[in-house]
Amino acid sequence: MAEKILIIEDEIHIARMIRLELEREGYTCACAYDGEEGLAAALSGEYDLALLDVMLPKMDGFALLKALRERSEMGVIMLTARGEIDDRVQGLELGADDYLIKPFSMRELTARVRTALRHTAGGEEHILRCGKLRLDRLQGRAWFEEEELNLAHKEWEVLAYFMTHAGEVCSREELLRGVWGYDYMGDTNLIDVYIRYLRSKIDQRFGVQYLHTVRGLGYTFGERHE
Ligand code: CA
Repeated sequence: MAEKILIIEDEIHIARMIRLELEREGYTCACAYDGEEGLAAALSGEYDLALLDVMLPKMDGFALLKALRERSEMGVIMLTARGEIDDRVQGLELGADDYLIKPFSMRELTARVRTALRHTAGGEEHILRCGKLRLDRLQGRAWFEEEELNLAHKEWEVLAYFMTHAGEVCSREELLRGVWGYDYMGDTNLIDVYIRYLRSKIDQRFGVQYLHTVRGLGYTFGERHE
């Protein structure tokens, strides 16, 4: 059965982006748009994990977490604003499992969600495999057979996105949103640059084709021998 995630976030466009991304990853989601509604939903016991914004109408995220922790040990990831270090500390002291700093990328979000759910449910695989490629989400490393790939962090993130969506056609916009985040306003040509880096470090280096251009649509990922 799909794991259920509660998104408590008053900014509707952010709640929606998070929901779409998590649903695409196979989770079942519901949204609550203020603290009181969020607390009631969290206490229903229907959810495996809550994503909890700090600044909320009616009841803020800290008050909600405090009230929740009196009755529930469900997983909670706080969504905090950049630079508010006290917020992160306070959230963790009140019993949050993790926090994400806004703005966060969708890849970061899904990675944290997986980790938090693994803590609550136990034992989810963190190694992705595609043909002879292997990627460790926790360590941020990747290998072709036994040889470790020498990837910059963003290259690794792009590769992780492709391996998570192997066999699907990924548009440049989806890649930008998935790796650079929902608020990234840059040029989709950036994606072509990263595709070139990855092709030189994987496809050309090992003589196996992973990255395939789908004309007019974007790219697809999967091992093919030429
Ligand atoms: Ca808010």
